[in-house]
Amino acid sequence: MKVLIDQDKCVGSGQCVLAAPEVFDQRDEDGIAILLTDSPTEDQLAGVRQAARICPALAIELVEA
Ligand code: SF4
Repeated sequence: MKVLIDQDKCVGSGQCVLAAPEVFDQRDEDGIAILLTDSPTEDQLAGVRQAARICPALAIELVEA
């Protein structure tokens, strides 16, 4: 599974970082989400799915690798 963030949609709410801190971080300067990895492990997938579900901007997409 690959993770994509649409940084143009991201509003910097930080929900994704709370849901999956090993996968998402936020830029210091503006809070826009960045990926620490675009290929989460099995263990990280539940958090990533949660992040995609709760992202208020619908900026997170999961695609089959
Ligand atoms: S939850 Fe969505 S809007 Fe909020 S920081 Fe993460 S990607 Fe951006």
